[in-house]
Amino acid sequence: MIVGVRSIEQLDERTLGIAWSDEKFSKLDVVTLRRLCPCAQCVDEWTKVPKNIKITEDVRPIKIESVGSYALRIRFNDQHDTGIYTYQKLREINCEAFTG
Ligand SMILES: [Zn+2]
Repeated sequence: MIVGVRSIEQLDERTLGIAWSDEKFSKLDVVTLRRLCPCAQCVDEWTKVPKNIKITEDVRPIKIESVGSYALRIRFNDQHDTGIYTYQKLREINCEAFTG
């Protein structure tokens, strides 16, 4: 089944809410999201081990755009914008159990 994003909202200062087309809802901690950035600058491409990058607690998303129909690209206020988060990954890193 192909699941899409119906809406994205800022729930509080550091929580992003994503409503999915299958009625599920994800709450994502934005600092965790930044730490889990899957891009080649943040994760070693061969070993898949995250690189030791300092990420502060005040990191916030400043721009979110969709990539095709499978992922979101998130630009953070530390000027990092190469992270592409697939819907599948976003649903895996949901910080609370799905509701609904
Ligand atoms: Zn990255």
